[in-house]
Amino acid sequence: MIKQDQLLWIDGREVAALDGGTLEVENPATTQIAFVVARGRGPDIDAAVDAARRAHDHGPWPRMHPRERGRILRTAAEILRSRKESIGEVETACVGRPLREMVQQVGRAPDWLDFFASVAETQEDLVVPASGELMNYVRRVPLGVVGAITPWNHPLLITMKKVAPALAAGNTMVVKPSEVAPVAPLELARALVEAGIPDGVINVVPGFGTDAGKALTEHDRIDRIDLTGGTETGRQVAAAAGRNLIPVQAELGGKAPVLIFDDVPIDIAVAGATFASFVASGQSCIAGTRLLVHERSIDAFVEKLVERTQLIRVGDPMQPEAQMGPVVSQRQLDRILGLVESARAEGARVLCGGERLAGHPFERGYFIAPTVITDVHQDMRIMREEVFGPVVSVQPFADEDEAVALANDADFGLGAAVWTKDLTRAHVVAHRIRSGTVWINDHHRIDPASPWGGFKDSGIGSENGVEAFNDYTAAQSVLVNLSRTPFDWFGSSEELRYS
Ligand code: NDP
Repeated sequence: MIKQDQLLWIDGREVAALDGGTLEVENPATTQIAFVVARGRGPDIDAAVDAARRAHDHGPWPRMHPRERGRILRTAAEILRSRKESIGEVETACVGRPLREMVQQVGRAPDWLDFFASVAETQEDLVVPASGELMNYVRRVPLGVVGAITPWNHPLLITMKKVAPALAAGNTMVVKPSEVAPVAPLELARALVEAGIPDGVINVVPGFGTDAGKALTEHDRIDRIDLTGGTETGRQVAAAAGRNLIPVQAELGGKAPVLIFDDVPIDIAVAGATFASFVASGQSCIAGTRLLVHERSIDAFVEKLVERTQLIRVGDPMQPEAQMGPVVSQRQLDRILGLVESARAEGARVLCGGERLAGHPFERGYFIAPTVITDVHQDMRIMREEVFGPVVSVQPFADEDEAVALANDADFGLGAAVWTKDLTRAHVVAHRIRSGTVWINDHHRIDPASPWGGFKDSGIGSENGVEAFNDYTAAQSVLVNLSRTPFDWFGSSEELRYS
């Protein structure tokens, strides 16, 4: 059973905030307080950075053999797997996503630890062809202290996507999770400490973005900052990283198009579209929010989509039969319904949903009926802004060129999907779309081996895969003089050579 009161993890132990402050985590399905968590601020971030700095500069972690680091990361993965039910319950209590989905996601997250342990263990240094009587080998060394700031929507998984490669590469970390859902990231720290990670290697300090997040971002003793969050937060974090001349990696917002060609059977297209749009109540950066449907099949598609959407079982997310829970907060609920209203005012038609659900079991939580909107155009707010809720729009296209043009007409470029049975068209269209990930006849699939990053306003850099691991290291070039001829730069009359 996971404790209802949680502390910060700093330097290998649980500690209260220095000022004794706490924050309350609300269960969005009931509006009751689910957890009380220590609230870190600037001085707590300082203490965490100090601990991470010591662990990096003087501790064993960066100097440990990668197989030894890998052993600890794999042990932590097993601990987390054994707790997937209880951590899944925590996630559902914090964000309202159905338990059956959360348990599955929590069960998958440890794969990142296994994968990056393997990457670290199999990493090979390079010998490069430098000219002259030199041997030049290139080591990959950890960057140092990595700061990570994470959002509320997939709390453990997103934290894991940063923690696993950063630690496997030998860095130490300070993580500032969202104050809305900080408990699972704290449980990740607990599992790593139980697995034997040295003190100070992982520090988790929940708090608000405006104080703890800002203090971490602007800290002058961190060596890299990672963020997953909204695009505006990304601009602020990247500006601070620029001032400190440290690398930044940012996974930001999205507005994924789903292109559905008329060779796809309607039932399959609708099942794919509802999966893309409504998983996690649409609170996903890669939610398929813009359905682009060939004009020949759009009427049949919309009719079936509305029918299918109305059958989605919204309910208490702790119950196994619930397929969709609430949205995360009153603030999100107001924002989502505000965007639906703006679409109505601009002439769109709301075919189903578009309102807060009432009656049992919805009396207290932030439940919104899944919503389908048509008659939209590109200038509407709902087509430009990230909604982050269970709302999908449907638009027709006449041909491939128009589909691609509509898909690319967005400030974001994170995820996209193409549905067609035509193999050539599937690849050609995928290549024309400006987004970091494109699914063909699918959506939402991710893997620790599969690069994940945003084009345009959706981010900087990429997570997952070997390249992301390398980004948590710096190349150190070691040049060895192999010449047998004695060397005296100022005493010699021979031709001078630098290389
Ligand atoms: P926010 O941008 O509001 O917050 C993200 C994190 O940044 C939180 O921990 C927040 O703290 C913190 N933060 C906020 N302001 C600052 C600041 N000025 N300096 C430092 N830290 C700050 O995003 P949400 O939590 O609302 O998450 C939803 C967003 O995340 C969506 O835009 C979504 O698209 C994006 N996202 C992107 C993903 C991707 O892979 N590209 C994946 C998942 C989500 P706190 O909230 O505690 O105050």
